[in-house]
Amino acid sequence: TPLSLIRNFSIIAHIDHGKSTLADRLIELCGALTKREMKSQVLDSMELEQERGITIKAQTVRLTYPAKDGKTYILNLMDTPGHVDFAYEVSRSLAACEGSLLVVDASQGVEAQTLANVYQAIDANHEIVPVLNKVDLPAAEPEKTRAQIEEVIGIPASDPEDAVEISAKTGINIEGVLEALVKRLPPPQGDAAAPLQALLVDSWYDAYLGVIILVRIKEGSLRKGDKIRMMETGATYHVDQLGVFSPKMTPVESLGPGEIGYINAAIKTVADCKVGDTITLDNRPAPAPLPGFKPSVPVVWCGLFPIDADDFEKLRESLGKLQLNDASFHFEAETSAALGFGFRCGFLGLLHLEIIQERLSREFNLDLIATAPSVVYRVFKTDGTMELLHNPADMPDTSLIERIEEPWIKASIMVQDEYLGNVLALCSERRGVQLDLTYVGNRAMAVYKLPLNEVVFDFYDKLKSATRGYASFDYQMDDYEESDLVRISILVNHEPVDALSFIAHRSAADMRGRAICARLKDLIPRQLFKIAIQAAIGSKVIARETIGALSKDVTAKCYGGDISRKRKLLEKQKAGKKRMRQFGKVEIPQSAFLAALKMD
Ligand code: GDP
Ligand code: MG
Repeated sequence: TPLSLIRNFSIIAHIDHGKSTLADRLIELCGALTKREMKSQVLDSMELEQERGITIKAQTVRLTYPAKDGKTYILNLMDTPGHVDFAYEVSRSLAACEGSLLVVDASQGVEAQTLANVYQAIDANHEIVPVLNKVDLPAAEPEKTRAQIEEVIGIPASDPEDAVEISAKTGINIEGVLEALVKRLPPPQGDAAAPLQALLVDSWYDAYLGVIILVRIKEGSLRKGDKIRMMETGATYHVDQLGVFSPKMTPVESLGPGEIGYINAAIKTVADCKVGDTITLDNRPAPAPLPGFKPSVPVVWCGLFPIDADDFEKLRESLGKLQLNDASFHFEAETSAALGFGFRCGFLGLLHLEIIQERLSREFNLDLIATAPSVVYRVFKTDGTMELLHNPADMPDTSLIERIEEPWIKASIMVQDEYLGNVLALCSERRGVQLDLTYVGNRAMAVYKLPLNEVVFDFYDKLKSATRGYASFDYQMDDYEESDLVRISILVNHEPVDALSFIAHRSAADMRGRAICARLKDLIPRQLFKIAIQAAIGSKVIARETIGALSKDVTAKCYGGDISRKRKLLEKQKAGKKRMRQFGKVEIPQSAFLAALKMD
């Protein structure tokens, strides 16, 4: 295909504004799938994505579109996730494309992640085509949304030519989107005869084929059988299979400049495939790699431990496979006094953490305990050294600490005027400092500096409930600042449970300590003896709860002689046992560990 007939684009939007639905319509209109094969949200192939209705992995698909100008174009579409935790996936998709479709829900208007995504697209030098979605809704206000896009984002949108009005759900004007793509996005550039430079955009593990790599060819060409070299790691492989997603995996003989496709090359070492690396030909290497993109920095860490110690190696292998599929996820081996051998894992946010945990349990069938999520602190010691601390259990003795610094973020929150009061109260409760407050129509945009530590646990949930789901939120890392932080230990039956200890600001220590004890009281099942639950700073107890003793016979509450019901209860109890962790004499359910740390 000549370059002039190729268009590569991402779909970017705030969560729920309709990216995945639009992708479905584009695939349908281009006839890539038959009606029978078409199910809704085809690109959200992960079970978890379908269930939660969110896009986690950026997906790609090649479409063929016969345009009104009589020419047939190849369109490579990349769907991207909208949630703040997955910004890294977005940046990778953008690096593989020349343009973006900016989807804005015309009944909601511009939201915080609309802005965050647009800024990323502008940074990537993208041509941006605004699309006003959901015009079928009575509440849609396309004119107002056009004005907002011009005013807040600063790209032309007032003309019908500038921003396309569609309904991804009912299929109104999908052709208008395709025509705009073809007319307005620049074709890719590159020289098919130049030495190969292919950007490694993504990689994942396929149960049948092994490691699959997604590439965007920038310069040169790649053929089946070629010997490729990863420029950063130096690893070499023979290309067994080359193909494109249409959206089914479809083998091709070669890929040229501007094309996006996959490579299957019997790769054994997961670490050889670094996302952002440049792939070249071994016998004719490119003089220099492509600029690549910024490596991701995990901001939240927690320990993951197998409930069954025999699962340790399986966990290591599974984490390796997940990392291949998710370059923003980090892990290293760790041991805990209470939990044994496990891994310290780094994430981009709490949703990211939950998703990884759920994938480990569903896709790899692993039962795990997650310890309290922690941000990365800087501990300056009296001997003049500095330690990066991301495990509360490793906090040095207070006598050795000169000062501690914690990370802050800069957050933008957009919300209807009527909920602004709740948002400001939440931010100040979390030690926030207001930097700016402006208005876009009847919506306020508050910019706050907040300690990340106050945001990771449950800020997003809190914000949603304080605004009936209307607020949108986005953040960037800011700087480190000195802070009065203490470690709070949790003792169950007078034994410290290192997996539950956490670091908090001194002003919040009592409140959080009390909240966790109260939660654990509900989360730990009653046992045959009384259990004390305490929170302590050093040796000083700051909160206490007691769980009363109970008879263990669960069948006692079954009156009458229903044997099958009794058996069911006993079986349920047996299954429950497997998901428990023994601490001294006390069994704590796995689900208690993360649940205990979420605040009301
Ligand atoms: P994404 O998070 O941006 O991928 O959004 P989805 O494509 O998952 O859509 C979010 C919700 O909006 C779903 O319930 C869709 O059915 C709905 N939706 C998407 N497009 C339209 C539209 O044009 N009109 C209406 N009424 N609903 C839509
Ligand atoms: Mg989606």
